[in-house]
Amino acid sequence: MTRTMDAGNETDGAILDAIDRFLRVEVRPHVKRLEQADEYPTAIVEGMKAMGLFGCIIPVEYGGLGLSTATYAAVVARIASVWMSLSGIINSHLIMAAAVLRSGTAEQKRELLPRFASGELRGGIGLTEPDAGTDLQAIRTRAVRDGDYYVVNGNKTWITNSGQGGCIALLVKTDHAAEPRHKGMSLFIAEKGPGFIVSRKLKKLGYRGIDTCELRFDDYRVPASRLVGGVEGRGLQQVLSGLELGRINVAARGLGVATAALTDAVAYAQQRKTFGKPICEHQAIQLKLGEMGTRVEAAKLLVQSAARAYDRGERCDMEAGMAKYFATEAAMENALECMRIHGAYGYSPEFDVERYFRDAPLLLIGEGTNEMQRIIIARQLVQRNPV
Ligand SMILES: Cc1cc2nc3c(=O)[nH]c(=O)nc-3n(C[C@H](O)[C@H](O)[C@H](O)COP(=O)(O)OP(=O)(O)OC[C@H]3O[C@@H](n4cnc5c(N)ncnc54)[C@H](O)[C@@H]3O)c2cc1C
Repeated sequence: MTRTMDAGNETDGAILDAIDRFLRVEVRPHVKRLEQADEYPTAIVEGMKAMGLFGCIIPVEYGGLGLSTATYAAVVARIASVWMSLSGIINSHLIMAAAVLRSGTAEQKRELLPRFASGELRGGIGLTEPDAGTDLQAIRTRAVRDGDYYVVNGNKTWITNSGQGGCIALLVKTDHAAEPRHKGMSLFIAEKGPGFIVSRKLKKLGYRGIDTCELRFDDYRVPASRLVGGVEGRGLQQVLSGLELGRINVAARGLGVATAALTDAVAYAQQRKTFGKPICEHQAIQLKLGEMGTRVEAAKLLVQSAARAYDRGERCDMEAGMAKYFATEAAMENALECMRIHGAYGYSPEFDVERYFRDAPLLLIGEGTNEMQRIIIARQLVQRNPV
């Protein structure tokens, strides 16, 4: 029914059509079973590899599809409208790839990007620790130089793709005493090996099927050549400079979930009858549908506008924050309204709506909580409009 977003040109349009087909044939029929069993979608991931989705935004010269951010956002919104977990499998992988693309040395780009693009080497981002999420400068995982290696010790938690993936972009402290604290932080592309321990897969309310794990680093040795950019002390900056793209992609996931909830609600409201007529003819339901549809259109425009600003190379932290905040709240609100419209059936795993309701809250937390988004937006409003 409602399309999430369209492509900017014909080639990208063909890619989006192929993705729609893939989602309809290879994904949708399997979502319920995989989600309910919390099973990693191995066969679907193979299909995603074959379609080049692990290289969406990696330039063609490194074996990627080289899509614009606007088209990438359209891809993410489509995938999330069918199964939000699948978008996470490529999203945090591409945040890691984007860090290498933006800040890596020429050798790191040559060596890693083609492996990322093909999906042969998949991964995510390892920032959060048991005692440090929003306040990343409080991380404790440390890396100490030892010849051509760094020796890493510490713990990470909530790291998506770290069970099935082969590597992560790992944020550590290389100098605990540095002031300001961020000058002692560095980023590594850490491939699995001795001392890189996946301690457990975490159970989650939603976002199932995809692996989110706790990690322990026990004298894990990472080659010094994997220090992103080859210089210590830039890790936090390298992570933060990826936030605009990260927020656009979470916003696109929000748009996908909000759209799915709207589509299901509009269909169900025409099928379900009470007091002799379809519930879509009751004004209380019409008010809900009207609000849900408006949220989807507004979210779409905010995502498109932030993605296009990013493609033009403009600073768009405020725009990406607005898109992330609005589109993800839209996902949560539309999931709840869709559930109310479904009555008791909305509470049943027979329908997809209970999944939207469990998936949407993650979007309010990831890539900077929505509390932080509003603070960032407010600071930008003041900074850009001094009196
Ligand atoms: C399913 C899932 C997958 C995840 N995947 C990853 C991943 O792949 N990689 C990764 O590194 N992390 C991942 N995370 C972790 C996620 O990024 C963090 O949960 C998030 O950054 C928030 O950190 P926290 O949970 O420690 O909350 P806290 O930082 O402890 O925040 C708690 C509350 O306080 C508020 N708050 C904090 N500081 C301020 C402030 N200064 N002003 C106002 N309010 C504030 C927050 O908004 C929040 O409401 C994942 C989390 C989940 C749930």
